[in-house]
Amino acid sequence: MLLTITTTRKPATDLGFLLHKHPAKLQEFEIPQGIAHVFYPEVSDERCTIALLLDIDPVGMTRSKSTDSQAFSLGQYVNDRPYAASSLLSAALVKAFGSAMNGKCKDKPELVETPFPLEVKIDVLSVRGGEPLLRRLFEPLGYTIETTQHELDMQFPAWGQSRYFSATFSHTLTIQDALRHFYVLIPVLDNNKHYWVSREEVDKLLEKGGEWLQHHPEKELITRRYLRNQRVLMNEALEVLLKEELPETESEVPQETAEEQEAKKRIHDVRLETVRDELLKDDIKKVIDLGCGEGKLLRLLLPEKQFEKILGMDISMQSLRNASYRLKLDRMAPRQRERIELILGSLTYRDKRLEGYDAAALVEVIEHLDEPRLRALEKVVFRFARPRKVIITTPNSEYNVLFESLPAGEFRHTDHRFEWTRNQFETWGYKVAQEFGYKVIFRPLGEEHEQLGAISQMAVFER
Ligand code: SAH
Repeated sequence: MLLTITTTRKPATDLGFLLHKHPAKLQEFEIPQGIAHVFYPEVSDERCTIALLLDIDPVGMTRSKSTDSQAFSLGQYVNDRPYAASSLLSAALVKAFGSAMNGKCKDKPELVETPFPLEVKIDVLSVRGGEPLLRRLFEPLGYTIETTQHELDMQFPAWGQSRYFSATFSHTLTIQDALRHFYVLIPVLDNNKHYWVSREEVDKLLEKGGEWLQHHPEKELITRRYLRNQRVLMNEALEVLLKEELPETESEVPQETAEEQEAKKRIHDVRLETVRDELLKDDIKKVIDLGCGEGKLLRLLLPEKQFEKILGMDISMQSLRNASYRLKLDRMAPRQRERIELILGSLTYRDKRLEGYDAAALVEVIEHLDEPRLRALEKVVFRFARPRKVIITTPNSEYNVLFESLPAGEFRHTDHRFEWTRNQFETWGYKVAQEFGYKVIFRPLGEEHEQLGAISQMAVFER
């Protein structure tokens, strides 16, 4: 399997800086099933080509546990894995060009954002779906494609065409984008067994595909094939991708008055400060902000030295990007930077990264999940992550009648799936506390109306 990337942007040798590979050096990287060689077949100021040659060990593969049991027993030995681009090539791409894929370039950081005229050539690609699929996947991203389809057997032309192609993709874009496209789409074209299929792959897909995939007309097919037709994983990924199309977290109901907006902002500050104060109790050192949005709570937590480790998680890539920008993560002093981490993830599936924390906060998050999915959230937070303390806030729906502009029965925010009365929240809270062995208390947030209660409500669970 051979993948080459060529650029003609002068000085073309910048390719070496971007990919962190010196043109004069031949390099090798091990992946579990073989070795990736990286070298430059041509180097000049005008034109530079880097090659990734993947040498798969077919015998080793039959021994490795990750090999699927094939339909027929010889399939273990007779298959296209050593020759046709597949998820193994994606694995090699990450291994060899991981930093570039993550948008890092130590020596010439300005190149990361620079679009390059690129030509990516792959020999050979296995395409289940033929040239039409190849075009459906790459053309919406802006690539021009030239392909040659290979005959099944040159000696028997009557047998017709194989599913193997040599293809050249041309486009002007950043190296990072190009690598990410190929990382995700090569296994999608192949649609054979992947050397992965785990929940982590949902994250990888979203990390490497999130932005462009969201707008891709074939995002469902891509997600399904990438995750090997596993419904559960696919639904989770699509949930994230589709969510990103919903209105921004902060775009409130449009017709609301300036005073109402102001009041909401004030109450949100009260909410966040109350949660911070609650976290400052009980010697809490490691905290997670689940559904951290644009990082408003994180910003309040950071100045508090008591917190040694702060993790923000959200399902929306856009929110995380905004959070990173607002918190100025890229300009933070290294010691400060080590204390905080932002991760992409969903509260509805188990995530090992959430384990080992003293406390978790979910500020105005639960009402963004469909009610039937709360069950999954309960397990993820209270059974698996299982911090000593969990703080949850949610609107008090009884208060809604006091919002003049809010039509009766409507929610405060277009993305809310439900809003609970105090009684509903408490019933849920007691049930969860009992099931998972926590104690819970409830507190109003914001000024209280005599009959209707406060605008928002908070539950503090402790075990
Ligand atoms: N806690 C923040 C943001 C609240 S808005 C604040 O108080 O400012 C709700 C947030 O929950 C959004 O950022 C949304 O992307 C996130 N969210 C919704 N469903 C989620 C899920 N299943 N997993 C993780 N985050 C989710």
